[in-house]
Amino acid sequence: MTIAIVGAGLGGLALARVLHVNGIDAVLYEREPSRDARGQGGMLDIHSGQRALREAGLIDQFHAIARGEGQDMRLLEPDGTLLLQEDTPDDAPLERPEVDRADLRGLLLDSLPEDAVRWGHAFTSAGDGLLHFADGSTATYGLLVGADGAQSRVRALLTDARPAHIGQNAVELGIPDIDRTHPDLAAMVGRGNYWVLGDGMSLAAQRNGDGRVRIGLSFYNTAEDFFSASGIPFGDPAAARARLIDLLSGWDARFTALIAACDDTVVPRPITALPVGLTWPSTPGVTLLGDAAHLMPPVGEGANMALLDGAALGLALAAHPDDFPTAVAAYEREMFERTSAAARMSARIQDMLMSPDAARKMLAFFRPD
Ligand SMILES: Cc1cc2nc3c(=O)[nH]c(=O)nc-3n(C[C@H](O)[C@H](O)[C@H](O)COP(=O)(O)OP(=O)(O)OC[C@H]3O[C@@H](n4cnc5c(N)ncnc54)[C@H](O)[C@@H]3O)c2cc1C
Repeated sequence: MTIAIVGAGLGGLALARVLHVNGIDAVLYEREPSRDARGQGGMLDIHSGQRALREAGLIDQFHAIARGEGQDMRLLEPDGTLLLQEDTPDDAPLERPEVDRADLRGLLLDSLPEDAVRWGHAFTSAGDGLLHFADGSTATYGLLVGADGAQSRVRALLTDARPAHIGQNAVELGIPDIDRTHPDLAAMVGRGNYWVLGDGMSLAAQRNGDGRVRIGLSFYNTAEDFFSASGIPFGDPAAARARLIDLLSGWDARFTALIAACDDTVVPRPITALPVGLTWPSTPGVTLLGDAAHLMPPVGEGANMALLDGAALGLALAAHPDDFPTAVAAYEREMFERTSAAARMSARIQDMLMSPDAARKMLAFFRPD
C-alpha cells in the first residue's frame, strides 16, 4: 500500500523524511523536472517548524544553515521615522532564525534516499486507485497526500474551497550583491528584516544568504484587477520601477532609492488565501497538508505549518502503519485545530497591515508595553 505524496515542497519532504526515519517508504511525485529546475528564492522565518525538524532528526543540521542575525528587525514609517530596531546578539537563541528556502529544501532532499522523488511528474487527477500525470503515465497508491501547494490539484478531491484574493497585491523586486553594488543601502537595510509600513502600502526588504536583498512592495485594500488597472508596465522593468516610485509619492527618498537600485526582477504577486478554519469530512485514501490545506496570508506561518503537518502525518502513519484511515483522521483532527489557530493569528496580523496607522499598530504588537 504505497504512500504517494504529490509535491516535493517543504511539507511533502518533511512527511517523507519522518516516514523514512520510522522505516516507512513513500514516493514523492514532483512536477519540476529536477531539484535545481527553479530558483527557490527568499528566506523563511522558521520558529514552530523547528519541532518538525527535530522529529525529522535534522535539527542540528538546520541550526548549521540557519542565520541567527536574520532575526534583526527595523520598523519605519514612510517619512523615515525609525520606530523599532532590534539587533540580535551573537549568543541569542535561534528562536526565529531565517533560512534560505533552497538550503532548507536541500537539507530535506539530501536526507532522503536518492530515488525518493520522481521528478517531472505533474499530477493531474486520481481515480480507481490510480494517479494520473500530465505525461500520460500512471501510478498506483494506497494513500494520496496532496502536498502540492497553493494551487493544489489534489484539493478538489476533498473540498470545493479555492484560494480567494485577500485585497493585497505585491510586487517582488531585488538588489543583487548589495554590499558591493550599494553599500549605503546595505547598511540601511541591515542584516535581517526592514519594514516600512504606510497607510495602504508597505515595503519589506530582507537580506538573503546570497547577498541579495529581496524587496516586496505591497498595495493593500486593492482589487484583484489592481495590476491591470495600475499601469505598471511589467514587460519593461525600468519603466515598471519608475511607475512604482511614482506610486510611493511622499515617501522618504531613501525608500525610493531602494526601488531605483533594483535589477530587472519585477514580478506581480496577487495574494490569495483559503478560508480560515477550512475543514473537510475525513475521506479514506486522501488527505492534504501545507498550503494545499490552509493557504494563509504571507505573515510567516505557512512554511512552519507545512513542516509541522508533514511531521504530524508522518508520526500518525508510523503509529498506525496498517490503518491509513485512522492515521489520517488523527492527523486531520490535530492539523485542523493547530492550523486554524495559526490562520486566525495570520488574519489578525494581516488586518493590522491593512489598517490605517499600520506602523504604530505593528509597533504595539511587537512592544505591547
Ligand atoms: C515570498 C514568500 C515568503 C514567505 N515567507 C515565509 C516565512 O518567512 N515563514 C513561513 O512560515 N512561511 C513563509 N511563506 C509561506 C511558505 O513559503 C509556504 O507556506 C510553504 O512553502 C508551503 O509549503 P508546501 O510544502 O505546502 O508548498 P510548496 O512549498 O509550495 O511546495 C509545493 C510543491 O508541489 C509541487 N507541485 C505543485 N503542483 C503539482 C502537481 N500538480 N504535481 C506535482 N507537483 C506539484 C510544486 O512544484 C512544489 O514543489 C512565504 C511565502 C512566500 C511566497
